[in-house]
Amino acid sequence: MNNNGIILVENKTNFTISSGKDETAIEYGKYALSLTNINYSKMINDIAEFVGDFGNTFQLTDTLSSIQNTHPELLKKYAKYGIFPDRINKETIHLLIEPLQTPLIHHLNNGYLDNKQMELISYLILCELSENIYLESFDWKDHTTYIPSILINKKLRQHIEDILLKKEQSFLSPLQAEMNKIKITASIQLDSNGIAHTTYSIYDTLSYLMLDLQKYFMIQKKVNKCLSCKRLFYPKFRNSEKYCRLPHNDTYLSCDEIMHRKASDDFVIARNNARGYQYNRTHTESTIKKYGEDFLNKQYIDWTIDCTLHYDNYKAVNDLTSFKSWIKSTKFNKVRLEFLYQQYENKI
Ligand SMILES: [Zn+2]
Repeated sequence: MNNNGIILVENKTNFTISSGKDETAIEYGKYALSLTNINYSKMINDIAEFVGDFGNTFQLTDTLSSIQNTHPELLKKYAKYGIFPDRINKETIHLLIEPLQTPLIHHLNNGYLDNKQMELISYLILCELSENIYLESFDWKDHTTYIPSILINKKLRQHIEDILLKKEQSFLSPLQAEMNKIKITASIQLDSNGIAHTTYSIYDTLSYLMLDLQKYFMIQKKVNKCLSCKRLFYPKFRNSEKYCRLPHNDTYLSCDEIMHRKASDDFVIARNNARGYQYNRTHTESTIKKYGEDFLNKQYIDWTIDCTLHYDNYKAVNDLTSFKSWIKSTKFNKVRLEFLYQQYENKI
């Protein structure tokens, strides 16, 4: 694996993203959206822990480089352990941190990116990390010196969310002014059909984010914020959708399924409980002895037909309270059965 960043080729609705080795397409806005849905604290912990394990090596190399001329005997000593200052360059660092790719992919796996896309984005994060570790400002004890800013800067992440939700004030944010200063190298390349595409060389996560958000504004789609889990999502059928279709709290059900299932479950539970009660009241021996089977069967059947009607009507408007009070008012308690019986007798 080299450390040359990625190439983004602009298409109509997506970028072709390429590392020189792998290539895939990724729709506009999807990268920004998946970034907002990362569990940041866990991801930062994993990176910091990993780099911390290598921290001593990185720092030792720095020290060795600086004392090459003054303390050659120390260099000899370390060479015995296979540590050579001139052998640590960006490529070596990239190789050292490469095992981080698997945990990075795990953190990026939040419902929006496929495997190939996660591989390429985690590769971009690795490129930025190795670049930062190579810089003089790198301090392995301070993760803010090497972890990409979009992962550690909360204000920046909030800003990305505001932009994705197309909140008007987000355009006026000083952060946006800062982001607009980012310089990105662009060129024009022809594809195999002779069509020209704008092409960008990208070495860090923020530059890609800038381009992705610019493109996101040009498309008609807009994300919503899930009222259940607070993650951002693209509505599937209607712009007014309130719940996402991502797995809810590591369950196999989505927020959308859970929220809608919950509503219908409460109706079903209320109806089934009521049915059970009404059935028992009309099928106990002592009641049958008192009122007779014909009357009780008729009451039960009439009630179940009525109940189905009310169930459908109240469920349609999601009014569980009214459904429950209807159930309460029609319960076959002692008084009501007596009342119904009088009515029944008078009719005959
Ligand atoms: Zn959700």
